[in-house]
Amino acid sequence: MISDYAGITPKGDLQLLQKLGEKLRNKAFLHINSTRAGGGVAEILQRMIPLLQEIGISARWEVIEGDDEFFNITKKIHNTLQGNLDHISKEMWGHHYEVNKRNAEKINLEADAVLIHDPQPAPLIEFRKTGKWIWRCHIDASNPLEKVSDYLRRYWEKYDAAIFSVARFARSMPIDEFIIAPSIDPLSEKNRELSDQEISEVSERLQIPRDRPIILQVSRFDRFKDPTGIIKAYKIVKKYNDCILILAGSPATDDPEGEEVLKEVKECAADDPDIFILLLPPFSDRDINALQRMARVILQKSTREGFGLTVSEAMWKGRPVIGGAVGGIPLQIVHGVTGFLVHSVEGAAFRIRQFLNNPDMAIRMGEKGKEYVRTNFLITRQIRDYLSVWYALENKGRDILEL
Ligand code: UDP
Repeated sequence: MISDYAGITPKGDLQLLQKLGEKLRNKAFLHINSTRAGGGVAEILQRMIPLLQEIGISARWEVIEGDDEFFNITKKIHNTLQGNLDHISKEMWGHHYEVNKRNAEKINLEADAVLIHDPQPAPLIEFRKTGKWIWRCHIDASNPLEKVSDYLRRYWEKYDAAIFSVARFARSMPIDEFIIAPSIDPLSEKNRELSDQEISEVSERLQIPRDRPIILQVSRFDRFKDPTGIIKAYKIVKKYNDCILILAGSPATDDPEGEEVLKEVKECAADDPDIFILLLPPFSDRDINALQRMARVILQKSTREGFGLTVSEAMWKGRPVIGGAVGGIPLQIVHGVTGFLVHSVEGAAFRIRQFLNNPDMAIRMGEKGKEYVRTNFLITRQIRDYLSVWYALENKGRDILEL
């Protein structure tokens, strides 16, 4: 219930949300992405759709379907937009389009506003019926392979607007562009308060020892999340501080590379009994919540990152965070205030040790981090922003502030 957020999220956000809900009441808001579970987009949509419905918006969430070939191609698109070198052939682009065409025949695309998440369903714009169409980019497009972004331009330019998580990702486009950071839900099973008993239950079930400090990263097994870099950093730390490393991740149906990366990670961990590689089933929200709460230090050592919801999740739990200085992570980690930004394995090891050896500083930064998330990265603020963009697009040229 929206009213449950009173006292947790900023009051102004809630008031504006109610007003925008009144203005857009009963209008249809369709979200489309490519996976129901795994990764940040699905995470947000699961929580956002019911809240939109509660404030009177007729919100729907559809997921496009595709074969293995489609997801191999879209992973290549994702990786190249994040800067990798690869080739996407004419046939691959053709398949990307054809799969979207098939989905367009199955999905009801009628709505007052349609928010298309990421490149996988971007070609759906070709089958647009009614309403405002907005393309929402969640990935780190700060340094894309130009050939790929140039190709996608044919789709992007047909939208009414584009939304990016970070200003540096925005491209020069002939359509309206907005910057909206993602968010976490403080009341979800992943982020709600847990009792000590609930946390112990999880550590016992997952057989995690609690006798030494835990270093944690929660992520899909994706090379851009740098899981092997974390193991290297842990090995440096371990020479001086006894600790445990947990890498927790579950597969995402639109990410075909997971297994291969997991193999690399296991090889890198070798037979160190203090490295725990946890393969969690989808929707292990309470387990992740508990792991984050039992950790002494939380990492998100990405080398490319759209936003990195896991950073806000950790900060909301008052945990000290260390993140790669990429993508949306510096939006969340104000270096030296709400956590530390790092650029290397050695840097990560240094900051882990700093937190382990200075518990007071770790607590102080954790507290600051939580307040920073409260003002900037809670779901009520993100819904407010989406509705504001939609309202602004519908009322172009008029006084949009006369709420
Ligand atoms: N997540 C999860 N289980 C996992 C790994 C990740 O539920 O095994 C969640 C994580 O808690 C976060 C989201 O998936 O909410 C990942 O979002 P993020 O923005 O950090 O990265 P993305 O996967 O979207 O690149």
